[in-house]
Formats: sequence, C-alpha cells, structure tokens
Amino acid sequence: MIIGITGTPGTGKTSASALIGGVLDLNELIKDGGLYRGIDEARDSLVADMDAVYDRVCGIADVRDGNLVIEGHLSHHVSDSAIVLRLAPDELEKRLMARGYSGAKISENALAEAVDVILVEALDWCDKVYEIDTTGKTVEEVADAIQGILDAIGRGIKIDGYEPGSVDWLESEASCLVNFDYDR
Ligand code: ADP
Ligand code: MN
Repeated sequence: MIIGITGTPGTGKTSASALIGGVLDLNELIKDGGLYRGIDEARDSLVADMDAVYDRVCGIADVRDGNLVIEGHLSHHVSDSAIVLRLAPDELEKRLMARGYSGAKISENALAEAVDVILVEALDWCDKVYEIDTTGKTVEEVADAIQGILDAIGRGIKIDGYEPGSVDWLESEASCLVNFDYDR
C-alpha cells in the first residue's frame, strides 16, 4: 500500500518526515526523475506529469516489502491512504512569509488551507484519509502522531482522533486573521 503524507505547503510534511525516516520525498522524485511536463513560471514551480509520477511510485512500491510512505503536497494523488497535515491559516501565513514566499503565493496557500483544498482532494482520491491538526505542535509531536497512524495502518487496527473533517478553520478565527489579498 502507498501512504501519502500530504498538506498545504508549509504545514511541516518534510520536517516531520525527516524524523520518521524512510519516507520518500515526492517533490525530489519529480524533480530528479524529470517527471514533469513543464515549468509554471507564475508559480515558480514544476508542472508534474501525474501519470508518470503514478507509474514511478507504483514501481517503487511493487518491489518494497510493506507499505511505501511518500510525502509532498501531491502525494495524495498517487496514494491509497493519505495523512493530511493541517495548520491554522494565520500560522501558515507566518511560516510562508518566513520562507520568503511572494504575497500571491502566501495568499493562495493560506486560502487553500482555509477551505480544505487538499483534504477534499484526498477524500476524492484515497480510500482512507487521516487528518492531523499540527497547530501548536512541535515537529516531534507531529512525527509521533504520523508514526502512530502508520503503526495502526501497519497492524490493520483502527485509530481514533484523526477523522477527516475534524479541522474547520472557517469556524475559527484563524482564517479571519488572514488577509487574502493578492495584491499586497
Ligand atoms: P512542508 O514540507 O509541508 O512544505 P516544511 O517541513 O518544509 O513544510 O516546513 C515549513 C517551515 O515550517 C520550515 O521552516 C520548518 O522549519 C517549519 N516547521 C515545520 N514544522 C514545524 C512545527 N511543527 N513547528 C514549527 N515550525 C515548523
Ligand atoms: Mn516539503
């Protein structure tokens, strides 16, 4: 089975995955493997060839004992199960600012997080979806939560506390604090 650790850019996928170990970085695979169709100049990002990505990931999963865990904001497109990392939009905004993202890119991602874009996509694409609210959690705590879910999946047992839909930013003031203005 392929398990994807996904979430809006900046939610902490790569940081938490580094503590877990053995997690395949999907963005790196796309870049190094040339699995893209072009470059999105406006977004300064690669346009992934998702059919090629799917074939490559399945090829890696096929020769592996046990589950393959991949991470990246596209991972839920090629996974059987998805673990979606969530972060309050106002916190996400601060992180992306610190990363030096443009105002447009920050707004796009904070808005996507506020209205559950990746969660909805994951529910569409994957058989099973888990959701972790990382707000106020350290990288270690997030990694522990992910590991707990991976262990439960590995043992085929149910785990409580990560039901999809448990996070709702529109009901919290976290999304109202964000200035979704593309022109700043
Ligand atoms: P992603 O891979 O989801 O885009 P990263 O793991 O690259 O996110 O993290 C984005 C930024 O947020 C980095 O600067 C990282 O140090 C920081 N960060 C990640 N997880 C946490 C956390 N739990 N608490 C505080 N800062 C974090
Ligand atoms: Mn990352």
